[in-house]
Amino acid sequence: MTDLTPRIDANVQREAHALLELSHRIHAHPEILFEEFQASAWLADALEARGFAVERGVGGLPTAFRAVREGHGPGPTVALLCEYDALPGMGHACGHNVIATMGAGAGLALAPLMDELPGRLVVLGTPAEEGGGGKVLLQRAGVFDGIDAALMIHPWLANQAAMPLLASTRWDVVYHGRPAHAALAPHLGVNALDAVRLAFAGIDALRQQVRPDVRIHGIVTHGGDAPNVIPERAGLKLVARSADGAYLLEELAPRIERLFEGAAMMTGARAEVIPAPIRYREMRFNRPLEAAFERHTQRRGRATLPVDPVAATGSSDIGNVSQALPSLHGLLAIDDAAMPHTAAFEVAAGSARGDATVLDGAAVLAGVAAELLSDPARMAEVRAAFEAAG
Ligand SMILES: [Zn+2]
Ligand SMILES: [Zn+2]
Repeated sequence: MTDLTPRIDANVQREAHALLELSHRIHAHPEILFEEFQASAWLADALEARGFAVERGVGGLPTAFRAVREGHGPGPTVALLCEYDALPGMGHACGHNVIATMGAGAGLALAPLMDELPGRLVVLGTPAEEGGGGKVLLQRAGVFDGIDAALMIHPWLANQAAMPLLASTRWDVVYHGRPAHAALAPHLGVNALDAVRLAFAGIDALRQQVRPDVRIHGIVTHGGDAPNVIPERAGLKLVARSADGAYLLEELAPRIERLFEGAAMMTGARAEVIPAPIRYREMRFNRPLEAAFERHTQRRGRATLPVDPVAATGSSDIGNVSQALPSLHGLLAIDDAAMPHTAAFEVAAGSARGDATVLDGAAVLAGVAAELLSDPARMAEVRAAFEAAG
């Protein structure tokens, strides 16, 4: 098998100026979930200019796009995923400008090689990762159908092949009681705030009887309007997560929903329980993809840390994708200390070190994608690992 990496690295270098200009432009114009009109247009334009067939607004999402570059003859379809949404009020504090330009950069670096490689290369613009579940919506619309592997890299504070993302689900709960004068006639009231308090008490009792990877956290959204009136309406929002999606959805979620109802029964209030329409799945690891990420990351002179499968982590819509097809969610450092969703991480995402990570990430993604396209044995290994982990 010819080693394509020297040509990939040279292509990334040739595109470096344009890629970093694009990364800085997205960083300087943060757009929140579902409003990423500029970022998605800039990325789609850049890919179109290098010969990709671009479809804007795929899957019914105006800020999603699909850019396709056909290879030479039949083979697998490999997708590079670009996230580009910012956080409300914090700019690119999750560094999605880096994700976007690593994905698009890998596409630009591979484009000239696609006349020789079999299969098909897709660069997918996936909006609204921060709370919108954009990838889940695209999955439901069939945009991931026919894709054999999905690859992306998130900026981080270390170089690591995978992130143990947790399955996650949430509820919005409103208790409806009956108001009454709190001194004159409290016996005529039904206290909705008591239902909220008892729901949280029940959750706290539940904590001791759940698996150690479970996280349950919530807030009170409304607790009444005046201290001298028995609260007629009170509410809460709750999130529950676990490393095991089946455990979360089949065992834990029904127990939590019974607690919500139990608090209503104890007080006489009525519970209005609204589960979130999108539930995030846990990451399905794929060791062959992770090993390819590690090889190419080390090739670019970066040491990689082993993946700690029980490290504290968050949730993301790539988890849902990873349950449907082989997926890579690698991590590359743009800082040694700053955590995502902080002001310091926002600065790192536009820094010289962030720029170096854009170029390394583009080269790593292109290297992994080239292996999958050119080597049927590698693709078979990735598929087998996906099936084995199901
Ligand atoms: Zn984030
Ligand atoms: Zn992020």
